[in-house]
Amino acid sequence: MEIPQLEDLPDPSGKKVLVRADFNVPISDGEVGDDMRIKAALPTIEWLTEHGAEVTVCTHLGRPKGEPNDEYSLDPVRERLKELAPDVELMENLRFDPGEEDNDEDFVERLIEGQDLYVNDAFGASHRSHASIVGPPKHLPSAAGRLLTKEVDKLGGLLEDPGRPFVAILGGAKVSDKIGIIKALLDKVDRLLIGGAMAFTFLKASGHDIGDSLVEEDQIDACKELLETEKIVIPVDNVALNEDDEVETVGEDIPDGSKGMDIGPDTCEKFAEEIKKAKTVFWNGPMGVFEDERFEAGTKAVAEAVAEAEGFTVVGGGDSASALAQFGLDDQVDHLSTGGGASLEFLEQGDLPGLEALRESAGS
Ligand code: AMP
Repeated sequence: MEIPQLEDLPDPSGKKVLVRADFNVPISDGEVGDDMRIKAALPTIEWLTEHGAEVTVCTHLGRPKGEPNDEYSLDPVRERLKELAPDVELMENLRFDPGEEDNDEDFVERLIEGQDLYVNDAFGASHRSHASIVGPPKHLPSAAGRLLTKEVDKLGGLLEDPGRPFVAILGGAKVSDKIGIIKALLDKVDRLLIGGAMAFTFLKASGHDIGDSLVEEDQIDACKELLETEKIVIPVDNVALNEDDEVETVGEDIPDGSKGMDIGPDTCEKFAEEIKKAKTVFWNGPMGVFEDERFEAGTKAVAEAVAEAEGFTVVGGGDSASALAQFGLDDQVDHLSTGGGASLEFLEQGDLPGLEALRESAGS
């Protein structure tokens, strides 16, 4: 069944509309750092206000664990939103109430009190069965906002008949977090390039020494099995930090006492070549400890290759989005997803709890 759109809602003129957005933005010194997620919700908010609706937005911010906490107050977000959409109200952080994450029905009822319609535009939170995502569609005529629809269209394009070769690049800290998406992607891609700390578990599984690098011993057998597909490409060299805190480039084998921190220059070249040849590219997760400039080269090389690629390029949010912004390349990809976890779960499952709830909505 199709997901209901804004146009499918009853006439919003004079109605109160609750919009669930994902304004989980970085805050520093009481100000919004990167407002990409706020701006991304504007097409939906503007459509609703232009059609005469009275809009109230709700969102979570950080992990306040079910109780009010000034550190996670939405005041800085409210100030920025006032500049961008002056007539819109913003509720306080949804996660100040334990009912949000517990998907509590009483909390849902309080949330929708006085509201006539509901719009989900929080792609980045739609992989969670939280009250504000799955609750309101049971009670109110509901629709997907423009951002949610755009994300589903672009990410859906990777699942349906992608141009080939299709190359995915995955990085980040843990294999155990990504095992589901690795398996799902292996069915769809032609090549899967692996970097970041999780590459060391793969390197160990293929018989290499990994020194003191991060490893998940309990995932080694799973990695061995995945490597049999021959679609996975792992680093051929690494940048490591040795016992004397010196940075060194080493091969596939990392010496005892050294810790792998980034992919090496030959790997950067190899990955860039694969990305250049691709007709479809998906990237999620840094290739190394990119927050430290000594170990940013691998992530930068992948970011540049993805930015220059002629194929259709999609980057899953989170760290890869920050890395692209850090290197000034965030406007050079076809789609920069606002959701890290949500984009991975959508690619893995082909659906999300928030989308299911909209399809089953009472009013659609
Ligand atoms: P994730 O949240 O799983 O996407 O992991 C992102 C984190 O992985 C970043 O903070 C990176 O600093 C970290 N990371 C990437 N490569 C390495 C590495 N070789 N050793 C330790 N941490 C790493």
